[in-house]
Amino acid sequence: MNYYSTENRQLKRSLKDAVLEGLAPDGGLFMPERIPLLTEAQIQSFRSKSFHEISRDIAISLFHEDLNETEIIEITDAAINFDTPLVYVEEGIYTLELFHGPTLAFKDVGARFMARMLGHFTMGLDREINVLVATSGDTGSAVASGFWNVEGIRVFILYPSGGVSRLQEKQLTTLGGNIMALEIAGTFDDCQRLVKSAFQDKDLHDHLILTSANSINLARLLPQSFYYFNAWARLRDAREFYVSVPSGNFGNLTAGLIAGKMGLPVKHYIVATNVNDVVPEYLQTGKFRPRPSIPTIANAMDVGNPSNFARILDLYGHSHDAIVDAMNAYAYTDDELRETIGDVYQRTGYLLDPHGAAGYRALKAYTPREKGIPGVFLETAHPGKFSLTVEEVIRSTVEIPTQLQDASSKKKSSITLAADFPDFKDFLLHL
Ligand SMILES: *Cc1c(COP(=O)(O)O)cnc(C)c1O
Repeated sequence: MNYYSTENRQLKRSLKDAVLEGLAPDGGLFMPERIPLLTEAQIQSFRSKSFHEISRDIAISLFHEDLNETEIIEITDAAINFDTPLVYVEEGIYTLELFHGPTLAFKDVGARFMARMLGHFTMGLDREINVLVATSGDTGSAVASGFWNVEGIRVFILYPSGGVSRLQEKQLTTLGGNIMALEIAGTFDDCQRLVKSAFQDKDLHDHLILTSANSINLARLLPQSFYYFNAWARLRDAREFYVSVPSGNFGNLTAGLIAGKMGLPVKHYIVATNVNDVVPEYLQTGKFRPRPSIPTIANAMDVGNPSNFARILDLYGHSHDAIVDAMNAYAYTDDELRETIGDVYQRTGYLLDPHGAAGYRALKAYTPREKGIPGVFLETAHPGKFSLTVEEVIRSTVEIPTQLQDASSKKKSSITLAADFPDFKDFLLHL
């Protein structure tokens, strides 16, 4: 199957080329030419399957024209080696915990899958592949961990200096080996701009094989649809459900929308952001106004120009009406997020992280919600990753999972660069 650019439907690539190129040469994002529609029976069969088995089935539906079944199963099995359990929170409300992977954030799913798929496509190449990734925190650690020690691949992680938590920084900067952390004197948007410019630079392409591991890459985006099916399967007797997605770059939501196009019975999508509310504003006004991001306590969603918005427009034929029909969006201040963490903890004992708090609150805010239809919000990170914020709210200590404690005691190693494309290019050319 081919994948086209959101900027030009005639510009097409095979799966392999789309994954290797990351971003289309015209600056568009790749989209599948056809989204496979699963049969009712296939979707019903997920009720009696594990997340792992569901992931295999969907991966086969998505990729069977380009890879054989053994290859798909190998990639999927190696990537999806942890669960995404559905947890009851209160009457009618569940959370899908996406943080049981090695870096305790949902990005482990996409990053691990992409690392294995890229590894498969580059087997036997005689040149190294260079993966560039901009991170506002969790992407970087998931990619670093997912790609660590994968042969033939070098990873450059660009993160905003002072813009990620101390623990996130440790996760990015302590692996070593084929993982290089670049500390950029600027914001996440600067990091993202540097990466985008690098992909569009001819000199760099002549000298290096470059690809991305941001959620713009198909191999990260598409596997994120797996766990939406798991949410529905674990609900057991619900016919349809609401799903609420804490969003920054909107890759997670886009994967959920794709799951819907594959036949998953999502009644309505609910979008949650922090004060970086470019998409909620678009839903309200029909105008998309990207702008510099504002730092918040839900820092993995501090995105002022969400790159997957182009895919959302594409999925709905650029119709504002169609998008408004499919989803509602809500934006929250840091105080509102803190208040939600405290309130939910006190009433239910469930401890949210700041991103999940946005998802929970938005789900509750969507008032057309019908009583008999369950709602699921995605918990995108373990609360222990944001222990400073969370502990201040609940006034007791949060257990820090051992994965994080391990990174915490290692020594940081990073290279400092200005937020300046010529400097970045020069650095890459003289590796
Ligand atoms: C990346 C991230 C998000 C935002 O996901 P997008 O796909 O960029 O919208 C939300 N929460 C956490 C914890 C994240 O790491």
